[in-house]
Amino acid sequence: MSDMVIIGGGIIGGAILYYLKEKGFDGKITILEKNNQLAQESTSLSAGGFRNIWSTKVNLCLTNYSITAFKNFKQETGVNIGFEQIGYLFTYYEKEWKNIVDHKHIWDKNNVNVELIKPEEIKKLVPGFEERIDHISKEENEVLNMDNIAGGLYGPDCGAFNPTTLTNVYFEKSKEKCPEKVEIKLNCKVKRILIDANNEIEGIKLENGETIKCSNVILAAGAWSAKIINDSIDEENVQLPIVPWKRQLFTVKMPKIDKFSEIPMTIIDDEVYFRPEAGNLIVGRADNEQTFGFDTTVDRQYYEDYMNYFMSARIPGMEYCRIISNASMWGGLYAHNTKDKNAIVGYHPDIKGLFLATGFSGHGVMEAPAIGLSVAEKLIDGEYKTIPEVNDLRFERIKENKLIIETIII
Ligand SMILES: Cc1cc2nc3c(=O)[nH]c(=O)nc-3n(C[C@H](O)[C@H](O)[C@H](O)COP(=O)(O)OP(=O)(O)OC[C@H]3O[C@@H](n4cnc5c(N)ncnc54)[C@H](O)[C@@H]3O)c2cc1C
Repeated sequence: MSDMVIIGGGIIGGAILYYLKEKGFDGKITILEKNNQLAQESTSLSAGGFRNIWSTKVNLCLTNYSITAFKNFKQETGVNIGFEQIGYLFTYYEKEWKNIVDHKHIWDKNNVNVELIKPEEIKKLVPGFEERIDHISKEENEVLNMDNIAGGLYGPDCGAFNPTTLTNVYFEKSKEKCPEKVEIKLNCKVKRILIDANNEIEGIKLENGETIKCSNVILAAGAWSAKIINDSIDEENVQLPIVPWKRQLFTVKMPKIDKFSEIPMTIIDDEVYFRPEAGNLIVGRADNEQTFGFDTTVDRQYYEDYMNYFMSARIPGMEYCRIISNASMWGGLYAHNTKDKNAIVGYHPDIKGLFLATGFSGHGVMEAPAIGLSVAEKLIDGEYKTIPEVNDLRFERIKENKLIIETIII
């Protein structure tokens, strides 16, 4: 029997395991992962970006902590996780720019290093950037609906890393530290959590028919989390407002513009974003028209017929940059919280022994170290000592209508 079962071998499950063991959790922990390898779902399909530029305190605190953890990881463990502080640059039209300028004092107060930059200065960070739209025909802009850029918000501490490496290291180091007390079970798909008539956990039923006895479960199954609860218990009021939502990334050629390989993660019109990766560009956009569901089929036309128009209009020369190959584009899933697009972290109020760490939408890999630490503190010490704001993410907030409305979402 395990003292704790973690469902999900992604970055959130890995970080929680790692910090539980780092902080001295002495019990046996079993990790259940449906795939034959760890970190094969959203974690490895993400863009690997991190930023501490947020409108809500909790996201700001989580990412501030995580960035320091990423930065120190090599020194602490000897492993290179591809950490690069290349910066994040958001660009805004006039109508949104005032809000950003008004928000600056909050970032300053919370030690978030940001600079407000003029449109013409954006070119220094992103060579070839066209801040105006005079070069786009009227007919074309009737479709694109673009406007002149009024300003840029630049965060030099932000950047990117390799979340797959970090996740694997979390699992390996935990196993090395406590070989007897960490059990990683691959190819183990959870069918349902067994919950008794008093809403207490009795165990876990796997798809292969096996039953694992346990009373404490951490649900870190990303986009599959709500389905697991739904398959486990009929009551409507215990269900999670989390749905799978397809997001796509395309690796395209670098434009022939001097120093373009040194640009920050850049967010342009219609929330198209891109950053350099190993000599190419990865380009993404969270499509709000996308229907919810587990389908992850990638749609090449979406890049060629839609996203690339914005890319080419803002960075003339991008029209020559094709998708590298069919293998260099993919779809993955956000675990999307339909209520406020933020994670749900904390004990389930109605199922005894169930701890939730899910619903991270587009910001799970960058929050993982802080979440791992926070969950470990809550389980061992009974409170979120380092980042008390994590309390804001409890499931009860939804019923209490204390939603965490984050406005800087990609
Ligand atoms: C295209 C894209 C771009 C993104 N870009 C970024 C970014 O730049 N920065 C950022 O911070 N975030 C980004 N994200 C979001 C980020 O990937 C997620 O928030 C993060 O990976 C969540 O980690 P997780 O461990 O909760 O989920 P996952 O990595 O999906 O892990 C959940 C695990 O649970 C397992 N599982 C599911 N069901 C079962 C079951 N029944 N039994 C056993 N195991 C099960 C899965 O196989 C999986 O391994 C992006 C996501 C996508 C799709």
